[in-house]
Amino acid sequence: MNYDYLIVGSGLFGSVFAHEAKKRGKKVLVIDKRDHIAGNIYTKVLEGIQVHQYGAHIFHTSDKEIWNYMNQFAEFNNYINSPIAIYKDELYNLPFNMNTFSKMWNIQTPREAKEIIDSQIAELSIQDPKNLEEQALSLAGKDVYEKLIKGYTEKQWGRDCKELPAFIIKRLPFRFTYDNNYFNDRYQGIPIGGYTKIVEKMLDGIEVLLNTEYSEFVKLHPNIADKTVFTGMIDSYFDYCLGTLEYRSIRFETEILECDNYQGNAVVNYTERKVPYTRIIEHKHFEFKSQKKTVISKEYSTEWKPGMEPYYPVNDKKNSELYVRYQELAKEEKNIIFGGRLGSYQYYDMDKVVRAALDLSGREL
Ligand code: UDP
Repeated sequence: MNYDYLIVGSGLFGSVFAHEAKKRGKKVLVIDKRDHIAGNIYTKVLEGIQVHQYGAHIFHTSDKEIWNYMNQFAEFNNYINSPIAIYKDELYNLPFNMNTFSKMWNIQTPREAKEIIDSQIAELSIQDPKNLEEQALSLAGKDVYEKLIKGYTEKQWGRDCKELPAFIIKRLPFRFTYDNNYFNDRYQGIPIGGYTKIVEKMLDGIEVLLNTEYSEFVKLHPNIADKTVFTGMIDSYFDYCLGTLEYRSIRFETEILECDNYQGNAVVNYTERKVPYTRIIEHKHFEFKSQKKTVISKEYSTEWKPGMEPYYPVNDKKNSELYVRYQELAKEEKNIIFGGRLGSYQYYDMDKVVRAALDLSGREL
């Protein structure tokens, strides 16, 4: 059997592309090394609760086309992400906003908050922030940086804030209003019924082979498709011939608890360096149901090693340069397209992944 496209990975990128290709009459085969579809957005029901098996995924976008596209596959609820941060015995609202500042300095007005932050920034004299630490300090001052950013970031990335790119912290809003919405985007929500169902719908009528590793599969079926869309790790495709790109992985400790409400919020970040996990997710709060029990997941961030699941590309200087060299190799390769968070080695949000897959579909199909 010969296919127009072999799609490696049934995550969001691969599934959107597969869906679009089938819609345009292409013959498509999707393979995935895991025993389930949906990649890292996979959700599974435990105690009647949709559990985000590979970490919390909150869909948010300002791109109306992408929002409408996703709404073909699911109805979204009105969840708004408003995480809590715990630092020692202090509790703050995230993202950095007037609720955070008023609690931190016992003040009430934006003017008071600005005065404190400006005076902290003035002591530092940072002109052009070159790394995450400088960026965070010049945005929020010393108190916010030390209590809410430094410990959390160094746990999550396993690197000093001075070695990390500034763009990571720019993902978070910083505002002088009493607004705890973590995102600035126009549209936001959690798909009712879970993410796995979305991917099931995208892949409806498409052949999918699970438990199928690309490198072995392609040896057995070298001419199976005219083109391949590869959404795995780009360095693994090339057998790490230029060296390994670095990724962060996460170990989840998931527990079912005999209580109906453990922490009162879906996301609670532990920003102190000493607490070994970065955050606790209480999955039921993504939906608004009233199950008797609750399911929580503690997230422990670790350096990725072979055999683990990669989650975050480490977009520091060294890795970015290595990625460019892999891109050069990719250009020489015939009939293969790399995409998704791993294939493009980019810290993509879901909406950007869908956008990239639709853009590729537009160019390619
Ligand atoms: N961050 C932080 N303190 C927090 C939450 C986030 O300093 O309490 C920083 C940290 O550097 C992190 C980045 O913001 O890597 C992005 O956080 P986000 O919540 O977007 O990460 P994700 O949900 O993708 O894991």
